[in-house]
Amino acid sequence: MGGLGNTSGLYLAAQGVGHLALIDPDKVESHNLGRQILFGPADVGRSKVEAARQALGSIAPDAFLEAKKVALTCENEQTLLTGYDVIVDGLDNWKARVLLNHFSVRHRIPVVFGGAIGYEAQVYVVDGGNPCMQCLFGDDPYEEQDCAVQGVLGPVVGMAGTVQAQEVLKILLNTGDVLRGRIWTYDAFRNLSRVVPFASRSQCPVCRDKELEYGR
Ligand SMILES: [Zn+2]
Repeated sequence: MGGLGNTSGLYLAAQGVGHLALIDPDKVESHNLGRQILFGPADVGRSKVEAARQALGSIAPDAFLEAKKVALTCENEQTLLTGYDVIVDGLDNWKARVLLNHFSVRHRIPVVFGGAIGYEAQVYVVDGGNPCMQCLFGDDPYEEQDCAVQGVLGPVVGMAGTVQAQEVLKILLNTGDVLRGRIWTYDAFRNLSRVVPFASRSQCPVCRDKELEYGR
């Protein structure tokens, strides 16, 4: 429930998605407010998932909203993630994204990945087949970047979260060209957006034994 989850959650609740599980161990901090638009100054110090559940509940009073105040780990991923139709990545670190990627490939549950740093946003989907996230980025963590340290323009996070919500709705409705095996990137500094296909790696440690190759 950082900047990505705030935006995607807002649209998913408003669009009538009836069941959302919100996962985040953190509390709202004042420096979050520029991009975490569900929260206001009165929420500083509150649990992010509780504050988000309250805000989304006012928009979608009939939705079933779960607040899970924990971090995703390999010990709790089964309990936290099993039973849902789509997972929306709003993570801020590589390790947890690796977990999500493995989970998607192993259980064939779609994950809509998203990220934003500086003026740049990106979204792509791994849907239980190949190529997967590690086909795109390799086995080694790319240089860890953190919005709190590197800075990010608030609306750019919103762009990524909005595209994530759009992809979730397309997956749920089984319509449109979902970003499976393709990455959407946006450069707000130059107002450039692109969609680029990425290929499976034959030696990918995560998905090489999977037979499902996404159609393009
Ligand atoms: Zn792979």
